[in-house]
Amino acid sequence: MQGKSIEYNDNRLALYCAQQGKCAITGQPLVIGDIHYHHKTRRADGGDDKYSNLVLINQDVHILLHAVHAETISYYLQKFSLNSRQKDKLNRPRKRLNLTLSNHKDFVVLKKI
Ligand SMILES: [Zn+2]
Repeated sequence: MQGKSIEYNDNRLALYCAQQGKCAITGQPLVIGDIHYHHKTRRADGGDDKYSNLVLINQDVHILLHAVHAETISYYLQKFSLNSRQKDKLNRPRKRLNLTLSNHKDFVVLKKI
């Protein structure tokens, strides 16, 4: 990938293998061109491109993970109809971003990022 560090590129393949080609949140197969790399600790907060700071997820799941608008959250939650285990997996990184699972059916926005 152009403009990305070499370490980032090396980690992509290692992560793909470690996650057995599946989205870390939904468990759905990752499709080439639809794979996103979520930084557990944001670059803005000093997060790096190390293996331990990256996780592979589907593009739309990544949108949901960072979503702050109620309509966006509703749309993608409906689209994925996540079970409680998947919601838990989604909620963990959201917690790190100060976006937590609660009311509004499933999510409430605590803080914009
Ligand atoms: Zn992300």
